[in-house]
Amino acid sequence: MADHAHIIGAGLAGSEAALVAARNGIRVRLSEMRPEKSTPVHESGDCAEIVCSNSLGSLKMSTAGGCLKRELALLSSPLLKVALDTRVPAGHALAVDRKMFASRVSELIEAESSIELVREEIESIDPRPGTPPALVASGPLTSDILLRSIALLLGEDNLFFLDAISPSVAHDSIDFDKAFYGSRYEPEGTDYLNCPFTQEEYEGFHAALIDADRIEVKDFEPDKLFEGCLPVEILAARGVDALRFGPMKPVGLDDPKTGRYAYAIVQLRREQADTESWNLVGFQTRLKYSEQKRVLRMIPGLEKAEFTRYGSMHKNAYIKSPYLLNPTLQIDEFPNILVAGCLAGVEGYVEDIATGHLAGLALAALARGDEIQSPHALTMHGSLVRAITNSENIPFQPHAATLGLLPEQEVRIKGKKARREAKVSRSLDSIMEYVEQLRSKGYTVPDAIDIPE
Ligand SMILES: Cc1cc2nc3c(=O)[nH]c(=O)nc-3n(C[C@H](O)[C@H](O)[C@H](O)COP(=O)(O)OP(=O)(O)OC[C@H]3O[C@@H](n4cnc5c(N)ncnc54)[C@H](O)[C@@H]3O)c2cc1C
Repeated sequence: MADHAHIIGAGLAGSEAALVAARNGIRVRLSEMRPEKSTPVHESGDCAEIVCSNSLGSLKMSTAGGCLKRELALLSSPLLKVALDTRVPAGHALAVDRKMFASRVSELIEAESSIELVREEIESIDPRPGTPPALVASGPLTSDILLRSIALLLGEDNLFFLDAISPSVAHDSIDFDKAFYGSRYEPEGTDYLNCPFTQEEYEGFHAALIDADRIEVKDFEPDKLFEGCLPVEILAARGVDALRFGPMKPVGLDDPKTGRYAYAIVQLRREQADTESWNLVGFQTRLKYSEQKRVLRMIPGLEKAEFTRYGSMHKNAYIKSPYLLNPTLQIDEFPNILVAGCLAGVEGYVEDIATGHLAGLALAALARGDEIQSPHALTMHGSLVRAITNSENIPFQPHAATLGLLPEQEVRIKGKKARREAKVSRSLDSIMEYVEQLRSKGYTVPDAIDIPE
């Protein structure tokens, strides 16, 4: 058996996989094309660079994100540990200082003697039997040459679609006579800022938004965007109230000046601990930069906003996993090749880390000649990999973790919150059994990580 493996891409999934495989005695060649060749959104050569929002989602026990993180904590996920160590305040969400996060992950990788981090662009994948196991974790912005080779290997099955990111503004350019702090859950908190609109301001803003000039993106196919990540102007075009009931929902955010909630609000989330930048929540857009400046300055409080980053559209690639992958993340036809992260069709940073974790364990199993076990379908990890590989999931859309993926309880439990908590606690029991099984077979799973509520 080979005691080594090749991982393509030192992003979220690839870095997690490399660290998990290495602690299980596998020698890993980790190929990363940055910094020599970058993507349109990465800025550094660091491993696990987070490219957009710095939030890894909720830590609350009764949410899907909270459940997935708790499972990762029981599995002793190296990247979750770094995220908790580099956490910045964001209410119940786990947000990180993105630079510190990526540089700590890079340090861990460089300090691991079993990992050889090689700065190279991989152009093709060798599927021949007998080659060492390989994990393709090259992400949504996989380089074109590698994508072409994947398409050739898997039979033109690659699918591309577009996604969008939201703009950020500088702290000292915000008018704090209008904007006020507070989140729906923590009215006294300072992790979020709110810009309140009157009805007249809202209607003027809505009209300007839908009329503004957009960047024409080649091959743009609106039906291939994530529903949860639609450009704000596309959402606005669905009707005058679409934003007021979506990202501009004012309920629960009382303006201290009036003592009641406004007609609509735009919410901003603090970007990073060390910079004074705020991200417009839910305002991913493909407006031209000049139009973003003009229209978004109509937001009360942002009249003089300086943009630290403009929103933009980007290409997002993933494979049709239900046709190609099995729940162990192996390609059916080439079981020595695994795919994880966004390219495998999961959606979200923590989902990328989770599939990377399972892929790292799978590489270790392949090297040892063991059968690869995926966690039970009662767990969030297990249900997520089943969801992306389920042959009924056609036409295929990428999947985030949701509590709806977990099977219902056999006994009916009263109350939504109680039902959710029961599902989560059952999933944690089940992942704990998985951890015990791994340990009993000689796999290394260090002690669980403490995770706050
Ligand atoms: C612009 C953008 C914004 C996003 N915003 C969010 C968000 O706000 N929240 C969220 O939860 N998710 C977001 N996502 C989705 C996704 O969670 C992230 O992209 C995440 O980083 C994907 O993790 P990954 O490990 O699959 O890929 P990545 O983290 O992108 O890692 C892939 C790595 O492979 C390298 N690579 C690519 N091709 C090659 C090659 N041929 N040879 C060697 N190396 C290669 C890349 O340089 C990169 O380092 C966003 C995606 C994009 C593109």
